[in-house]
Amino acid sequence: MSAPLCIVIATRNSGKTAEIKDLLKDYPVEIKSLEDFGPIPEVAEDGDTFDENAYKKASFTARILGLPALADDSGLVVEALDGRPGVFSARYAGAGATDAERCEKLLAEMAGRKNRRAAFECVISIAVPAGQALTYEARCEGLIAETPAGEGGFGYDPIFFFPPLEKAFAQMTIGEKGRVSHRGKALAELRDEFEKVIQWIEMHMPQPVPFPCSGEQT
Ligand code: IMP
Repeated sequence: MSAPLCIVIATRNSGKTAEIKDLLKDYPVEIKSLEDFGPIPEVAEDGDTFDENAYKKASFTARILGLPALADDSGLVVEALDGRPGVFSARYAGAGATDAERCEKLLAEMAGRKNRRAAFECVISIAVPAGQALTYEARCEGLIAETPAGEGGFGYDPIFFFPPLEKAFAQMTIGEKGRVSHRGKALAELRDEFEKVIQWIEMHMPQPVPFPCSGEQT
């Protein structure tokens, strides 16, 4: 039996890795994350769109490690803030800030605002070492809560209220969040055609060059 295909999740965010592993758990692939490898250079997430950043992370990781890589770039888009923090979601409260500090800053900026509509957006890029990539995207609409709630998830989950389930993302189990979230929906699209994705990856991976045995003519 051949070894399962290995895909590297191009992130050091353990929350994202856990969600992606959970969503791909029934497929014959070995999922690794950057934590399974030694130190590798950081890629600058300086694109203007989620799409650009997802592709940058996936293609850079695939090239450096010589393995297919999956990257997610996601963020929170708030209507009353003209779409901010958007692609700056991770840096919204400055480098080194914690998730709790980012949530606090957003709640302060939203204080007194009536329009609390927001959406998480996610772009997933799967790249091979030569640079070709597949892209999946999805969005999940909700409201910015008045106060944080829940202990689960990561990032802005405690302040993202999802009306259909009447809960904040941080109050959901990983399975519940995966069924409705931006990342879960983008991964569902990927899973719907996963057999084809595996074939596509295999077709685009570099083929090993046969090494001539000593004395053999090339
Ligand atoms: P990046 O995609 O790793 O650059 O993350 C962007 C920012 O959005 C980070 O601050 C994340 O914590 C936040 N974010 C992305 N996805 C989620 C999510 O599912 N829940 C809460 N915050 C998220």
